[in-house]
Amino acid sequence: MTAPQDRRKWKVAVLGATGAVGQTFIRLLADHPWFELTEVAASEKSAGKPFADAARWLEGTMPDAVSQMQVKSCRPLEVDADIVFSALDSTVAGDVEREFAQAGRFVLSNAKNFRMDPDVPLVIPEVNADHLGLLETQRAARGWTGAIVTNANCAATVAAVALAPLHERFRLDRLFLTTMQAVSGAGYPGVASLDILGNVIPYIAEEEPKLERELLKLLGRFENGAVADGGFQVSAQTNRVAVEHGHTVCITASFHEHPTAEQALAVLREWKGAESTWSLPSRPEHPLAVTDEADRPQPRRDVNAGDGMTVTVGRVREDRILDLRMVALGHNTIRGAAGGSVLNAELLAATGMLPPA
Ligand code: NAP
Repeated sequence: MTAPQDRRKWKVAVLGATGAVGQTFIRLLADHPWFELTEVAASEKSAGKPFADAARWLEGTMPDAVSQMQVKSCRPLEVDADIVFSALDSTVAGDVEREFAQAGRFVLSNAKNFRMDPDVPLVIPEVNADHLGLLETQRAARGWTGAIVTNANCAATVAAVALAPLHERFRLDRLFLTTMQAVSGAGYPGVASLDILGNVIPYIAEEEPKLERELLKLLGRFENGAVADGGFQVSAQTNRVAVEHGHTVCITASFHEHPTAEQALAVLREWKGAESTWSLPSRPEHPLAVTDEADRPQPRRDVNAGDGMTVTVGRVREDRILDLRMVALGHNTIRGAAGGSVLNAELLAATGMLPPA
């Protein structure tokens, strides 16, 4: 693996830059050692305006370099960068991302549209870096020189990082998930305050099937140019709760090799994730942290672990019906969206898959 620190930075753009995930990209790309944010794009209502006028900035301070950038339309002819991070609403992401890939651009997408296409990698670098091998299949099938690489639904990402070491060692058989998902997962302005304050909403449109199918792909094996699904049964229930950031996932699972809680904890503590990720700039020292506190993980206390890139797992214990129960927590707009996407781009860069900067 060649670390590209000594090279020029790749110029990158963010599509959907004005939204909740788009703004997280902007924060994470400020001062990035390998990527330089040169363009921002959004809908026609924002295009042509200075970014500071088009976006309602949600967190911290808007980087100076971005505030006066003119927002572009999401069209390849208007956006010069070879690498584009997409934080587009799924109603438009399909057409726009395809146009950019057809125009030879590398698209790193957060939207659902292409995630389950058999020739599109759905990647969490520490979990399934080898799935990037699908890009060869993608280019052969679609005849384009660009690429689409996706990252998963935010709750699926949290569950996949927590389960990857256990699936690798004990092979998942049956899996039940119940989520408590933050309001920032619904974008901005998102859920109306009178619907969510002091409340729990036991429905998130399309979320349960997304979680179920994406987990099977994320934990599947890449072999002979394709991903074979993880081969377990999964059932998810998803809830929106009055938390700002951080999706919590309660997991109950059985495994073919029936681990004890002690065996599971040992495997979770040892796991370091794919070696090809160890020196990537956005990779946290611990992609997975195990807490022994009886009442953790909690969004308020643990969501920013590893600068929002660490998934924290706790309450690992045996279950009376299946084998194990545990609780996992991760930052939805960082690990579950923009940070995951930047890490995917770093993996492409480090493995020589990006065009020259
Ligand atoms: P959001 O806050 O609603 O932002 C949506 C973005 O899409 C805005 O920049 C908006 O630009 C742009 N957009 C809307 N219609 C457009 C059009 N016709 N043409 C071009 N741009 C258009 O949503 P979000 O939460 O950031 O989510 C962005 C994507 O990431 C979604 O696909 C979502 O499912 C996915 N995702 C979100 C999370 C999360 O935790 N929030 C996690 C994982 C994945 P304007 O401001 O100009 O309208």
